[in-house]
Amino acid sequence: MRLCLYNGHRVGVVTSEHGLVDVTAAVPGWSDDPLSDFFVRLCRDFDSAKAQLEAEARRGEEIPLTAVRLGPPVLNPSKVVAVAMNYAAHRAEMEGRADRSNLGWRMEFDVFLKAPSSIVGPEDTVELPDVGDNEIHHEGELAFVVGTGGRDIAAADALDHVVGYTTMIDITVRGPGDRSRRKSYDTFSPTGPHLVTGDEIGDPQALTIDLSVGGETRQHVDTKDMLVSVREIIAYASSIMTLVPGDVFCTGAPPGVGPIVPGDVMRTEIDRIGVMEIPVVARTAAGPDGEALP
Ligand code: MN
Repeated sequence: MRLCLYNGHRVGVVTSEHGLVDVTAAVPGWSDDPLSDFFVRLCRDFDSAKAQLEAEARRGEEIPLTAVRLGPPVLNPSKVVAVAMNYAAHRAEMEGRADRSNLGWRMEFDVFLKAPSSIVGPEDTVELPDVGDNEIHHEGELAFVVGTGGRDIAAADALDHVVGYTTMIDITVRGPGDRSRRKSYDTFSPTGPHLVTGDEIGDPQALTIDLSVGGETRQHVDTKDMLVSVREIIAYASSIMTLVPGDVFCTGAPPGVGPIVPGDVMRTEIDRIGVMEIPVVARTAAGPDGEALP
């Protein structure tokens, strides 16, 4: 099943390349309050809600995707867990850039946190803050969302804790300073276009990630080349912090990271998940799209 959130936080099932069916009426406890926890509970209870959602999707009429505005297919996660240094070729390119100082611990695999408020959707824009001479880079990554939470999850059981997969571009200011700050500016986590449930993805290590800027391929990688698999990421992260339903993970930058500037359009594609095209603009005084932030 391909789930999406649209027109605020209505819930849709994407039923074809062109359309979705509104299944909001079948979502337990749904509310249009942006602080609602219905989505977190839907992630936790997805297995029991699935039949009801499928029935609603069969009953409803398809709405053209061109007639709606998709939001990010995640809502109010307790955290965004990001992975550093998960492809050998990315590690090598960063070692090549390490001209100013020894990056030390920053060259090692680990997990860190991005602010959930940095998440935007597949029809939003990335707004670049003024960071002086530092570059701001794209990192097109496989992302996944936690269904059943837990602590000390065994790698063997880990995929049972994933409700679905999506795409995230982990936008990053290069240069000195803490990783969580450099990756947590508003709009720095475009996520989407849909949340594709695990049964439709199968093996998360058998996907291909592409990211292009202005039609030029920048990143192209097979997820089998991850140094630490999705299963092992979950085992490691859950040995540190309790995973909560709805938590979002991004699984590390493929090689080919590079700068983005206002006017660029990033296009990212992961097979079986979909495509996002995200324009890049300069940050303005107002929030994303000029709307007041909650
Ligand atoms: Mn990243």
